[in-house]
Amino acid sequence: MADYQAPLRDMRFVMYDVFRADEQWSLWPALNQTIDRETADAILEEAAKLAAKTIAPLNRPGDEQGCQWDNGEVTTPAGYKEAYRLFSEGGWNGLGGNPDYGGMGMPKVLAAQFDEMACSASLAFTLYPSLGAGACLAIDAHASDDLKATYMPPIYSGQWTGTMCLTESHAGSDLGIIRTKALDNGDGSYAITGTKIFITGGEHDLSENIIHLVLAKLPDAPAGPKGISLFLIPKFLVNPDGSLGERNTLSCGAIEKKMGIHGSATCVMNFDGAKGYLVGEVNKGLNAMFTMMNYERLHVGIQGLGASEMSYQRALAYARDRRQGRSASSAQQTDTAADPLLVHGDIRRMLLNMKALNEAGRAFSTYVAMQLDIAKFSPDQQERDKANALAALLTPVVKAFLTDIGLDSCIVGQQVLGGHGYIREWGQEQLVRDVRITQIYEGTNGIQALDLLGRKIFQNDGAYLGLLLNDIRRSTKPEDEFAETLLNTVDQLEKLTARLLSQSRRDPDAINAAGVDYLTALAYVCYGWMWLSISKAAAHKLASCGSDPAWLAAKQVTARHYFTRLLPRFHSAAAAALAGTGELFALSEDQF
Ligand SMILES: Cc1cc2nc3c(=O)[nH]c(=O)nc-3n(C[C@H](O)[C@H](O)[C@H](O)COP(=O)(O)OP(=O)(O)OC[C@H]3O[C@@H](n4cnc5c(N)ncnc54)[C@H](O)[C@@H]3O)c2cc1C
Repeated sequence: MADYQAPLRDMRFVMYDVFRADEQWSLWPALNQTIDRETADAILEEAAKLAAKTIAPLNRPGDEQGCQWDNGEVTTPAGYKEAYRLFSEGGWNGLGGNPDYGGMGMPKVLAAQFDEMACSASLAFTLYPSLGAGACLAIDAHASDDLKATYMPPIYSGQWTGTMCLTESHAGSDLGIIRTKALDNGDGSYAITGTKIFITGGEHDLSENIIHLVLAKLPDAPAGPKGISLFLIPKFLVNPDGSLGERNTLSCGAIEKKMGIHGSATCVMNFDGAKGYLVGEVNKGLNAMFTMMNYERLHVGIQGLGASEMSYQRALAYARDRRQGRSASSAQQTDTAADPLLVHGDIRRMLLNMKALNEAGRAFSTYVAMQLDIAKFSPDQQERDKANALAALLTPVVKAFLTDIGLDSCIVGQQVLGGHGYIREWGQEQLVRDVRITQIYEGTNGIQALDLLGRKIFQNDGAYLGLLLNDIRRSTKPEDEFAETLLNTVDQLEKLTARLLSQSRRDPDAINAAGVDYLTALAYVCYGWMWLSISKAAAHKLASCGSDPAWLAAKQVTARHYFTRLLPRFHSAAAAALAGTGELFALSEDQF
């Protein structure tokens, strides 16, 4: 089985050469004393060690052992506790957290690289700490100062973990119909009653306390999403001095048996009049929860990337080692009966597809992380507004496309391994099982597509998209190698968007029918922009310092591979998006 090695050189290249993140940090007052290239590199090195030496070794045994439920208590796989302790002692829970409450205040661009490493090493393990960081964002943005001071520092330190409790058995994508009830206790707290299902890390043995962020409705709340409030509900109530008090009236009724991420406890959570505290305003809970969900959506996209990178590393190691058949042009290694798989065009096609999509995916998720950093740290209001708009536009694209590609890449990696990818030994089948959930949770990829086309494009008449397309056009020079191909797809995307907007004014089903294909088409254009930027940065670096020439030349070749073999997928997705709703609604229910 191939060992995971963090792609540090690629990560640094994307951060410093493609996006010049370090130059931005030095210009932002909130960051220029906190982070520079040297500090960031040291953090990345430590992160790589943690991922490879502490987290990755747990991945396979954690999958085999899984979590155990016994009378409401959940035991995580052997080794998880110790790894979580090391994770927490390293300060990784608070890497991007607010320094006023014990976080390290690092930029998201850096945290995104760490997230990728942890996810490559083990998706199941990494879910436990990741939800705490997201919960802190929602608490920080919407809760009272008291709640912030009480709950954020122990989550950043790893002493406590967090969850997000949205889903109920009858309410998944449609949260407007949740039934969990909240009653005002009249003393600043609420009593919450209801059952949530599928709650990641709802119960476990890694931390002293678990802080649940729960969506519920007050008795007089309006129907639908506008009647949802958000509550913070601790497993153990917290005394005024911060020590743990009595156990709250909530429990884990069961954990799910499931396809993958066996080391992650997926819990049924029963709240029986549990004491909770309002986060944000009454009936504005969904907005408050979106602060957490948007963070988690970027994280889930990066989960797809992490799995895809692991798949590439394993498939490449296998293709170098495994000998089958002879090279079509000439026998490469005459001292053995067969050549390595890597001599075959089809194997190279699969590896290059994975490589091109992973490197663009890393650049794209880093670009979105950078928009979050600009929105948070830039002193310029106009810059912040634009970055907020771009992050809003692209969050559903990162979530859905990186996870769709994540599954594809894990399956392609499996194909490279042949039958050895299907059996247990090499770990590839686990990767396929584990990554599959990323397309489903945090809002299915279908729901992400609706969010993109309905809310982020239709509702503002394409204004956010206009910002993105302007930036692509402005940064693409006529002399750039792939300029014409890229700008041609940008023009076509713009026309496609205009036609869909006009279709959707006549036909209420148009957005739902076109969403997924539209998101795919947009993503291939974004990846084209990423490859153009990577290729230019590589050429610049080659000309200016001349180091690593073979590695930099590989970037140019991979860019060409992307433009000739992968970008054409834009056209089929765009054609499908334009196909309209006719056939979809032509069949009666009986005809299906
Ligand atoms: C392992 C695991 C971990 C999870 N962790 C959490 C967690 O920590 N917290 C939490 O709250 N939830 C969690 N979930 C729940 C997850 O977020 C939901 O399963 C997901 O949002 C989809 O909801 P659903 O399963 O009810 O599917 P449904 O909402 O029933 O959707 C079924 C299908 O219909 C489609 N669909 C639904 N509505 C529409 C529409 N309007 N237009 C077009 N298509 C539509 C969906 O895209 C999907 O393909 C987890 C789930 C799993 C399996």
